[in-house]
Amino acid sequence: MSAFDLVVHGGVVVAGEAVVQADIGVAAGRIAALAERIEGGDRRIDASGRIVLPGGIETHCHIAQESGAGVMTADDYDTGSAAALAGGHTCIVPFAAQRRGERLADVMARYRRRASVSRLDHSFHLILSDPNEAVVAELPEVFAAGVTSFKVFMTYEGVKVDDAQFLTVLQAARAHGAITMVHAESDAMIRAAQAALLAEGRTEPKWHAEARPPAAEAEAIARAIRLAAFAGAPLFVVHVSTEEGAALVAAAAAAGAAVWGETCTQYLVLTADDLDRPGMEGAKYVCAPPLRNRATQAALWRHITAGTFVCVTSDHAPYRFDETGKFHAGRDIPFTAIANGLPGIGLRLPILFSEGVAAGRIGLADFARLTAGGPARLFGIERKGAIAPGMDADLAIWDPEAAQVVPPGGWHDAMDYTPYEGMRLTGWPETVIARGRVAFDGGRVVARPGDGRFVARAPFGGPRTPVP
Ligand SMILES: [Zn+2]
Repeated sequence: MSAFDLVVHGGVVVAGEAVVQADIGVAAGRIAALAERIEGGDRRIDASGRIVLPGGIETHCHIAQESGAGVMTADDYDTGSAAALAGGHTCIVPFAAQRRGERLADVMARYRRRASVSRLDHSFHLILSDPNEAVVAELPEVFAAGVTSFKVFMTYEGVKVDDAQFLTVLQAARAHGAITMVHAESDAMIRAAQAALLAEGRTEPKWHAEARPPAAEAEAIARAIRLAAFAGAPLFVVHVSTEEGAALVAAAAAAGAAVWGETCTQYLVLTADDLDRPGMEGAKYVCAPPLRNRATQAALWRHITAGTFVCVTSDHAPYRFDETGKFHAGRDIPFTAIANGLPGIGLRLPILFSEGVAAGRIGLADFARLTAGGPARLFGIERKGAIAPGMDADLAIWDPEAAQVVPPGGWHDAMDYTPYEGMRLTGWPETVIARGRVAFDGGRVVARPGDGRFVARAPFGGPRTPVP
């Protein structure tokens, strides 16, 4: 028997800032060696002509979760993790969402049950919609179980918190060593804009973008940053979609505040024009914050290359183009009643690779940081996110030359459409190895439901390398 269960040889390996020709030896699910040449191995995978990246870690995705309006995502942990795998991921961190009035023990039990069919290692961020005293008293237990990030919404009926509740969460997070994630859009501005548009009979999907203007995001991000500073608590701004929002995050970080942010794939390649398609086709592009314009895409890319964002995520929120999803409230509905969210977990990495690496905007080390290393360090996933001895053997072997046009329909998920249909993408994952086992290969998902394990995460600021 060899010292290694598996050797991946001949590939170009992205190991931190280094991009080197190297072999990787795997033993007992961990990376045991990284060297110019490794002989032996019970199994050998030839990666010549390929790039070996750390498996992607998707820290913003909605799987087996009800929206604020009560609509269940099309993907459960079986299909959601399959789609993630096919897109080069080895770990996902979806949300466990508290219903108002619900005990956290019940929330966690419900999501652990739902996640039992995950093919991939996973953790949860805890959405708090009702942070009352009893709920705050339950936090230490959630914390001890390794759920070390909370999320709050500043808008959305049913889940939104007011500033006082937001402060309560920030203070609790600070006390326990958690980081608070925030969906930052001004609820008051959005409601006023929506009411004005509907009163004028402007109900088509294209008005969705107008009802959630850049100013609504900027106002809420600025307020969130000030509330976090007041509480002395770290803050993570999810799905930054505007130049103003990105500039606020960058300025806060430059001033030394514990503020980080992300943007999402859709804001880099789609625009509000996509909402203005015939009939209700635009509903396929309804997400919040809404899609913006080309100038914003360019600004967000500038912030990516400048290092403003910890990660680029998909905000996978899969609602089918039918009565179970987008049209849960009927077909003849104003834009305000369309389910918010786009699918995209399976295409997040191919889009970022094609538009980022292949297009020459970012390097391979940046790609690995934005898709795996950054989120792993920020969210306390200690044994994942990098190719180095001692880490989980979570690897994605990419063919950088493979080119493919995204077909209509789902992408290994439970969806009936993809907003990225027709995009020609260069660079695709070919083989994905999760904890040393081949989990996806040659277009086929090999990992089975239940193969994934729950990952207990370290507290924020715990023992890990500093956030880049
Ligand atoms: Zn989201």
